[in-house]
Order: sequence, then structure tokens, then C-alpha cells
Amino acid sequence: AAPPTGSAALPTQQAAFSPEMARRDVPALHRTVNGHPLVWLDNGATTHKPRQVIEALTGFYGTANSNIHRGAHTMAREATEAYEAGREAVARFLGAPSPDEIVFVRGTTEAVNLVAQSWGRGNLGPGDDILVPVLEHHSNIVPWQLLAKETRARVVPVPLRPDGQIDLDAYAGLLSMRTRLVAVGQASNVLGTVPPVREMTALAHRYGAKVLVDGAQAVAHFPVDVQELDADFYVFSGHKLFAPTGIGALYAKPEILREMAPWQGGGNMIESVDFTRTTYAPVPHRLEAGTGHIAGVVGLLAALNWLTSFDRDAVAAYETSLLDHARRALTALPGLELLGSAPDRIAVLTFTLAGHDPAAIADWLDRDGIAIRAGHHCAQPALAHYGLKSAARASLALYNTAEEVDQLVASLSRLQQSG
Ligand code: PLP
Repeated sequence: AAPPTGSAALPTQQAAFSPEMARRDVPALHRTVNGHPLVWLDNGATTHKPRQVIEALTGFYGTANSNIHRGAHTMAREATEAYEAGREAVARFLGAPSPDEIVFVRGTTEAVNLVAQSWGRGNLGPGDDILVPVLEHHSNIVPWQLLAKETRARVVPVPLRPDGQIDLDAYAGLLSMRTRLVAVGQASNVLGTVPPVREMTALAHRYGAKVLVDGAQAVAHFPVDVQELDADFYVFSGHKLFAPTGIGALYAKPEILREMAPWQGGGNMIESVDFTRTTYAPVPHRLEAGTGHIAGVVGLLAALNWLTSFDRDAVAAYETSLLDHARRALTALPGLELLGSAPDRIAVLTFTLAGHDPAAIADWLDRDGIAIRAGHHCAQPALAHYGLKSAARASLALYNTAEEVDQLVASLSRLQQSG
């Protein structure tokens, strides 16, 4: 069982894993949709929350609500301690050396924009390159395009191989002394591809380039160690990791973070304000203007405690076996084509079904209580690589079962037979 929320100590005792251990904690998984038990296969978009997270939120608002860092009273102190315990837990979860290297943000999108607007504005200029794989989510493309426009730098796409893996030879060829940043996802939300980020980072560092790793899709699936990756920046969203929406984190190496100028001004981020000279707080607070999502941090801490109460290697092995089962069953359906065949992957299955529009597939499945996503998945360049504008996606999490995958396949099979 997960330890009580509010503690920064992540559990060290782990049990062998079965999906039932996770399912019993997650109330939303036990509802019905359109008269059928819910089959939630839209985890790439967001995950459902265990009761430990829900109770942490209601507990905070019910008895512990206060603003932080201000006001010398007991509840302000308690809220501040809970918030900083969340920072310590995130640091430990990512393998960061210190909580001072963790900045709380709304999510991955805000973290990437923060890095672009703070570090990027201070370090990029005309003629500099930002390398971005074609695989990336729009939130790891568009902030760099905005920055490039402002600084007259270039965003250079790194091509994909036919199997959906990043073309490492092309990547090596694109790196140069002009490369200032490589922005790469640790797992793709559309193809499920897991690129060799450690290797890509080492190559980028040879040219003095920094590397931002988008961990949005990775954190729920396998353990992360930012020091082992040697990432300069690492970003993720809580809501894809069983935590509330509106909270996420940025990790940056201390020597980089220390030099980062404020990107938003306001309360909490200053040392002193004067109309002739304003000075700023040290990081991470310098980059956290205004009242943050305090309850969100408390919920994130509960989610990290919950996830790490399981043996994560056992979880990853379980998800791989579920993915293998799903790939085998789906590819047996005539007319179904899975996108991406690179072997290193998370449990994301994006597909087309001959004769059926992705939106109509999602609608059909929804009538059976099965939630998947259809559309461009905020990764239009990756879909364009396959000549597509839209596809259907089932994305699995630790609480999904082989029976749920079989229900997906049976419903798709009925759709095919319906014409
Ligand atoms: N990066 C990846 C790989 C994603 O899958 C997502 C969300 O789908 C994001 C970034 C953006 O995350 P958020 O909308 O939580 O900021």
C-alpha cells in the first residue's frame, strides 16, 4: 500500500505487480459508459486518478488550505512544507541531485515555453540551430518556432526512419557547432517510439549543444534518471502520471538554472521591489511567479507515492507483455495497420482501419464504453511522415488488462463486419 500522502519519502518497499493492484485504487475505472463498463485506453491524453490522489486534494482543501511562503501562521507553514515536500519528491523521482533544480509549472507545455522564453532568449541568436525530431508533439515544436522567429534562429527537423524511429545518421549529420539545442521526446505520444535519448544527448554535448527531454509520455511507463540521461532540461506533466491537471515540473542542471532570467514577473519571484531597482529570488522561486497550484503539488506527491509503491520494473514488464498481446491481436484484424514498428516503444498503438475514418472508429468504440483518441494527436509532422492527417490511438497504462484489449479488438472486428 502507498504510504500516507504529505510525506516526501518515496516508499522503498515494492510488491510484485498485477493490474488489479492498481485498478482497485482508481474509482473512475469502475464506472460505466453508454451502458458498458468503461475501458479507458486514452492514457496518452490523460490518466485516471487513484483515490490516494483524490483524498490528498480533498484533504488539502478540507483542512490544510493556505497560501505558501507568506504569512507567519501555522497553516501557511504547513502548506509551504507540503509544497516543498512535493519538490523533494519530484527531484527524487527524476533522480535529480537536489530539489532546488525543480521548478513547478502547469505542465509540459508551460515548461517548454519557460525554457524557450527564459534560457532560449538569453542564449540563442541569428544563425543558431534548434534540432527537433519530426516525431515531436506540437508543444515541443511550436515554442521553438516562436523563439526562432524572435531570435532569428532556425528550427531544423530531424527526419524519421520508415519504422518510426529517429534517423540517427541524419541526426548526427545535422549537428554542428551552430546547434544550440536539441529538443527530443523520451517517448512519442503518437507512435510510442522510445528514441535513444542518452546517445543523442552525448552526441549533442560534443557540439556544446544543450538537450531538452520531453518526458510527458515516458514518466508513467518507466523509471527516469535525469543524471544518467545527462539531460540539461527535463519536463513532464502530472496529469499523464495519475496526478491532477495543471501541475507539472521542469528539471534543469543547476549551473543552467542559476543563469536563467525570470520569464514572468509577480509575487514570490522577487527578493526586493523598488521603482529604481528590483532584484529577484534565487531559483527555483525566481521562475515561479504568483500563487502556484499548491493543491496540485500535494496531489502530484500522492501520485508519485502511489506509482512508486509498485515495483516499476515489474510494471514496465507487464506493460510490455500487454503491448505485445495488443499488437498481435490488432494486426490479426484484416485492414488494420499499426503505425511505427521500431522495437523500443511504450504501450501506444496508433492505427488506421481500411474503409473507416478514425473519428468514426472512436465513435463506434465509445458506444461500447471504450475510450480511444482519434485525430492528429498534436503531432501533425509525425502523421504526415506516413501520409496521414488523422489516425486512431489506443494508449495503455499499468491498470489496463488483456481482457480490455480483447474488448477493443472484438469491437473493431464488429465494426469491420458492419461494413
Ligand atoms: N509532449 C508530449 C509527448 C505529449 O504527449 C503531450 C501531451 O499529450 C505534451 C507534450 C503536452 O502536455 P500538456 O498538454 O500536459 O502540457
